Amino acid sequence: MPICPKCNKEKEKLTKDHVIPKWLLRRLHNYGIKRGKAPKVVNEMICGSCNVRKGGELDYSNIKVRMFMLWFVEKIMDKLNEYE
Ligand SMILES: [Zn+2]
Repeated sequence: MPICPKCNKEKEKLTKDHVIPKWLLRRLHNYGIKRGKAPKVVNEMICGSCNVRKGGELDYSNIKVRMFMLWFVEKIMDKLNEYE
């Protein structure tokens, strides 16, 4: 049986975790950022209970989330500089 990388428990099956939640990807255009320009983040497989607990939150213990948010902040700073 597979082991969930979050809780380290053996589970029947794992479910897809959207590391960068869909709601955040959909919101990028509100900041004038094209979604296609966003770095591709590979989704992870975690167990159902961890996935439910996480919900639509960003897990900042995940390096992929921190790298994505750094990219996001830099993009927003670029946009701000354009208006100066
Ligand atoms: Zn788990």
